[in-house]
Amino acid sequence: MNDGLKKYNRSVCIYEKEAIDTFKDLMSKHTINTVYSYQESGIGITYERDKKLKSLFNRNHIKWCEYQRDGIVRGITNRNGWDKKWFATMNEDPIHNKYSKLSGSVKNHNYLSKSLINKLEDYSTEFQSPGEIEGHKLLNSFAEIRGKNYSKYISKPAESRISCGRISPYLAWGNISVKQAYQYIKNHPNYNTNKRSFNGILTRLKWRDHFIQKFEMEWQIETRCANKGFETLRRRSDSDHIKAWMEGRTGVPMVDANMRCLIKTGWINFRMRAMLVSFASYDLWLDWKNTGNLLAKLFTDYEPGIHYSQLQMQSGVTGINTFRIYNPVKQSIEHDNNGTFIKKWVPELKNLDSSFIHEPWKMDPTTQKNNNCILGKDYPNRIVIHEEAIKFARNEIKKVLKTDNYYETSKKVFLKHGSRKRNTTRVNKKSKQLSLF
Ligand SMILES: Cc1cc2nc3c(=O)[nH]c(=O)nc-3n(C[C@H](O)[C@H](O)[C@H](O)COP(=O)(O)OP(=O)(O)OC[C@H]3O[C@@H](n4cnc5c(N)ncnc54)[C@H](O)[C@@H]3O)c2cc1C
Repeated sequence: MNDGLKKYNRSVCIYEKEAIDTFKDLMSKHTINTVYSYQESGIGITYERDKKLKSLFNRNHIKWCEYQRDGIVRGITNRNGWDKKWFATMNEDPIHNKYSKLSGSVKNHNYLSKSLINKLEDYSTEFQSPGEIEGHKLLNSFAEIRGKNYSKYISKPAESRISCGRISPYLAWGNISVKQAYQYIKNHPNYNTNKRSFNGILTRLKWRDHFIQKFEMEWQIETRCANKGFETLRRRSDSDHIKAWMEGRTGVPMVDANMRCLIKTGWINFRMRAMLVSFASYDLWLDWKNTGNLLAKLFTDYEPGIHYSQLQMQSGVTGINTFRIYNPVKQSIEHDNNGTFIKKWVPELKNLDSSFIHEPWKMDPTTQKNNNCILGKDYPNRIVIHEEAIKFARNEIKKVLKTDNYYETSKKVFLKHGSRKRNTTRVNKKSKQLSLF
């Protein structure tokens, strides 16, 4: 960004301080008339921060201009008519920034601590390279080459790393906007020959805003279940299980491979994220409020609006979505059949052939020895047996479904947040079924 701003004699300054102290500091040195920002659909602490800032600005007669972010509308109470507005916004001309050339020298603000500078300089090369230029490069390579296999490989842990858009960190950090991505893909000459895949990613860009809109309207889902009935579930907080899950040492190869890959690279695909959450929430019966925050720290594309909604959906606590319990062995066989992805991230299992790579617990002691993989020594014994664990989880969930006001609460959630498509699953008996994936 600073490269692009050089010709206007301007630059971006970064402050590492509480926002309120930063502004007080700036106000003591400069006369500030107006503060410009976008409307952030943030979490509890950022909302509290904004309230403090608003009051500081009001007291000092500073105007705060907040602009709409992507297709997210502030102040609405339901989503009637939202889809139409979203398409209208996406098809508007993009804003082209214009700056006057600043006379005089740019003030050199240096408010970053040495430790933060070191941390930024240590940015792992395994993470996606940051910045606006990289975001545009990815849009280009997606539309030119990578995107043709988007739909085919979307759930494959290895192949999706190439065929997915991979633009999520750039959208989350504001390097590119949803409108820019939408228009680039929609108007690309390859659109007509790759309609299925390109429409797939365009739909997901809309989902992005749909989820953030939900969060904008009900940010409390950061800390409580959308259907409050699920608050009564007594989840476990077994620290050994949390540790094993977080370190990718559960003894379940597909879970461990994805967690280790996420730790190292900051990204895994949608289905694998859903599977990790499902494993934590159903198999290990852990509270999504704990595991969700731990997971958020690992994503380079953390976006609270999507994250908390998805966490709740994949943990089955919204009351309006089908319950989805992922079977990690089934996912493994379907999406990494010969175990290439598993072997890359869990090298302890590199000698196992496809009959054991998905379920190493099936090896007898001689097979373990022959494969240089002694369970409990080289690779952990599985910490949970899926079939037994989900039997317990289902029974617990069924108890909530039988409570008096479950249906009424779900209906309220649906009216506020449910999809406006006519053929959507309404809150009915069907949505109370548990689906196995
Ligand atoms: C438990 C869980 C947590 C998640 N947390 C986040 C998060 O913090 N930040 C985040 O950006 N995505 C999150 N997702 C959604 C999804 O996994 C990522 O958006 C996607 O994997 C990003 O990769 P991509 O850019 O290659 O996506 P593509 O498939 O290329 O899609 C393009 C863009 O569409 C949006 N998108 C794609 N899938 C979804 C979806 N299911 N819901 C909403 N928007 C979507 C994203 O902005 C994405 O960048 C989460 C999913 C789950 C199951």
